Parts: sequence; C-alpha cells; structure tokens
Amino acid sequence: MIVSAAFLLLFALGMLIGQFSGKMGLFHAAKPTMAAAGMPTNGNVQSTPQPAESEAASSASSSTASSAEKEAVPAYQAMYPHLYAGTLEPSAPVKKKTVYLTFDDGPSNLTVPLLNVLDTYHVKATFFVIGRTDRQSVEAIKEIVNRGHAIGVHSYTHQYKQIYASPAAFLDDFAKMHDLIENTTGVDTKIYRYAGGSVNGYNKSTARDIIAEMNRRRYVYYDWNVDSGDAETGATAKSIYREVINGVHRHSDSVVLFHNTKFKASTLNDMSKIIKTLQSQGYSFEKLDPSVDSVSYRFNNIP
Ligand SMILES: [Zn+2]
Repeated sequence: MIVSAAFLLLFALGMLIGQFSGKMGLFHAAKPTMAAAGMPTNGNVQSTPQPAESEAASSASSSTASSAEKEAVPAYQAMYPHLYAGTLEPSAPVKKKTVYLTFDDGPSNLTVPLLNVLDTYHVKATFFVIGRTDRQSVEAIKEIVNRGHAIGVHSYTHQYKQIYASPAAFLDDFAKMHDLIENTTGVDTKIYRYAGGSVNGYNKSTARDIIAEMNRRRYVYYDWNVDSGDAETGATAKSIYREVINGVHRHSDSVVLFHNTKFKASTLNDMSKIIKTLQSQGYSFEKLDPSVDSVSYRFNNIP
C-alpha cells in the first residue's frame, strides 16, 4: 500500500513538472535552439562584448595562444568596430494584450500618411527601414523619429542574394543602413529585422554565422508572430484587417508584420479600423526596444 501510494505521488509530481515545462517550452520555443547554438539571447547577457580588434590584439600578445586559436576568430569580427550595441538591459516583462505594430520596407510616399493615422490614435509603432536617400525618403525617416516611433535596420539594398552571401556581406549592408539612420536622425539603433525574416530561402548556409555575429555585437532582431498578409498577392484592406485581428486574438502579445511601400495602400486603408477595434478590446500599442524579449517573436527553426 505504502509503496503504491508513494509511486502514485511520484507519478503525479512527474506529470505536474512535465506540464509546467511543456508550457514554458511552448512560450519560449526558440530559446533552447538559440542556446544550443551558442547564441546569447536577450536577457541572458554574460559580458560586455569587445570589438574583435582588441580581442585579436590581446590574443596576439599572449605567447601561449596557438595559431589555430588565432585563426578561429573570423576576420569579419574586426569589421565596423563602431557597430556594437553595448550591454543589453535584461528583458522587461511584457504586459498582456500588448501589440507591436511593425512596418517594413519603408520609407515611401505612404510613410507620412501612415504616421498621421498613428498620431490620430496616439499609437507608437516600429519602422524597419531600407536604404532610400531621395529627399522625400530622408524627410520621412526624420518624421518617424520626430513623432516618437522606433526605427530599426531592415537592410540597405533588400537584395537577399547579396545580403546573405556571407557574414561580411551582411555587415556591409547593415552598416550602410545603420549609419544612414544615425546620420539622418541621430538615432544609434540597436534593433533590426532580417529582410525576408531570420529564416529564408537565401540564408540557409549563412544564417547561423550571421545571427551569431549580430548577437555577439548585441543587436536585437525581431521576426513576428502575426503576419498581416499585406505582402501577398490579392491582399485587400479587408483581408489585412481580418488577418491582423484574428492573429492578435491568438496571442497574449503580438509583433505584427506590415509593409510601408508605395504599393501598400491597402495596408493604410483599414489601419484606423484595426487600431480602433483592438483599442476597444483592451489592447495597447507599444514600440519595440531592446528590452522587449525577441525570443517570443523569433522563428524557431534556425537551420
Ligand atoms: Zn522587407
């Protein structure tokens, strides 16, 4: 009797632990993958990274460092020594029913009209921008920042084949966009979104190294957990509205993907309606910053 009671107790305890860790696993699905890959995650920062140049210098001065160890440091780690995001703050808890609206591929002629809609409802959003240097685009980038929104790197060229050719090619493109944002707005941004998302058809062989290098430099990237579908052929204001509302309802908190190119008038058409509906349902809108744990919004199938 005593033995079987003890067994039952152990069994129940095991079930409880299993259930708990199962839930944790579901919420932070990507974390074990990233940790296994040796990639630091936001909120799990061990030390302040140093530019590779000083690392190389210190290892060179050490007589015990073998040549194999020196070769193990890839040359691209020495590129762009100004591109270090510093020590990240630990992740801040996200309130339930928080929605992060994010807009890729701008600036465009539709940026300021979109900003006007966001202003009407006192909503702050996040813009992942690409390299446009015409006068209207430069003004639009300034307006994004002046009106209090977050700005991050999407890519300079948005040419997947070029960007994802190698970590060095990625850094070349990233640096160009990062510096254009900084020179235009004064913002030294620490957030970015991969063109095509962190996992795409063009980075199968390079994604791991690129992500590891960007994590080493402490930049934080965001994928999304709700896709408005506005990039798909045949998307309408109605379909975008439906995808966003349904998607947001499925999550405790959401990063919603939209696009802000000149072709995406349908993204703008129902933006007021999307915001009004979600506000009336008790959702609040925030902009992304590095304290928002990106793990919850990452794809979890890093190649
Ligand atoms: Zn894009």
